[in-house]
Amino acid sequence: MAIGEFDLIKCYFERSASSAGVELGIGDDCALLDVPAGKHLAVSMDTLVAGVHFPADASSRLIAERALRVNLSDLAAMGAEPLWFTLGLTLPEPNPDWLENFSVGLFAAADEFNCVLVGGDTTRGPLSMTLQVHGAVDSKNALRRSGARIGDLVCVTGCLGDGAAALAVIQDKLWPGEDAREYLLDRFYRPRPQLVEGQLLLGVASAALDISDGLIADLGHICECSNVGAIVDIERLPLSSAMRANVSVMQANTWALAGGDDYQLCFTLPPAKQLALQTLIDSGQLQATIVGEIVSGSGVICRSEGVEVNLSATGYNHF
Ligand code: ADP
Ligand code: MG
Repeated sequence: MAIGEFDLIKCYFERSASSAGVELGIGDDCALLDVPAGKHLAVSMDTLVAGVHFPADASSRLIAERALRVNLSDLAAMGAEPLWFTLGLTLPEPNPDWLENFSVGLFAAADEFNCVLVGGDTTRGPLSMTLQVHGAVDSKNALRRSGARIGDLVCVTGCLGDGAAALAVIQDKLWPGEDAREYLLDRFYRPRPQLVEGQLLLGVASAALDISDGLIADLGHICECSNVGAIVDIERLPLSSAMRANVSVMQANTWALAGGDDYQLCFTLPPAKQLALQTLIDSGQLQATIVGEIVSGSGVICRSEGVEVNLSATGYNHF
């Protein structure tokens, strides 16, 4: 190794982290941290392996930025506010260019979302990384998956399907104009963790999660945890103009329902909270759309023009 482990950490990862709650950051055997009074510590971890979760030759700046943003999306889904994160990094060799770009991407996201790097581990081996984010959430109100009740409305933030459309662009299967291309790629590499939105939904939503595997699959997790079923109206799905302008309605809806990598929130809303949600939307604080409702039973049913439809790999068909 041209650069020793300790120099590497100092050079690329140790920054003066005088931040609220960080009594002691990188450099000792442990970090010492203060959890805000009255809050739960919300903890989530993601591992990314080269060749599995990203191409080995992908830009390290984009990998780092995306990795932290995706991890923060889990905090958003609980209504938690980011505090700190740790990084386990396994490198085949300490390449200074790779590390410099990695560090730039990592701290760009860390600074944007007020999340401080407080420790980690650095080892030699096949390229992979594990990030663990820590956040604070009101101990009474955390947004769990298990709170949906029959009669609640099903809502989503932002637009759906952009992640899958972006992947098609990256895989050279979709060729939109320059503006749409830029918009979609930015959505993919720099997903927006819905942190402000998640916190606004505390005490409003009855259940929530972030959509990483497509609305149907992820809403299915809420249904399972809450022992309920759900109906989604395809015509209500929020689609970006960048995606809509470049693919058929069928493709757009299929990506919105079953594509991955959107990192928007899906949440359920008791009817009594509908006015509170509308107020948040009207005041411009929250972009959200009602797409369906929670019903008795199990699993997610899709409806088009009021008729149940069957979603297959190639699209959806009326039964
Ligand atoms: P130890 O051998 O006691 O586990 P290390 O040598 O692994 O200590 O780490 C020294 C310090 O550097 C610790 O504070 C650790 O949290 C931090 N650290 C190590 N690797 C990283 C990393 N990739 N990112 C951030 N901090 C790191
Ligand atoms: Mg260690």
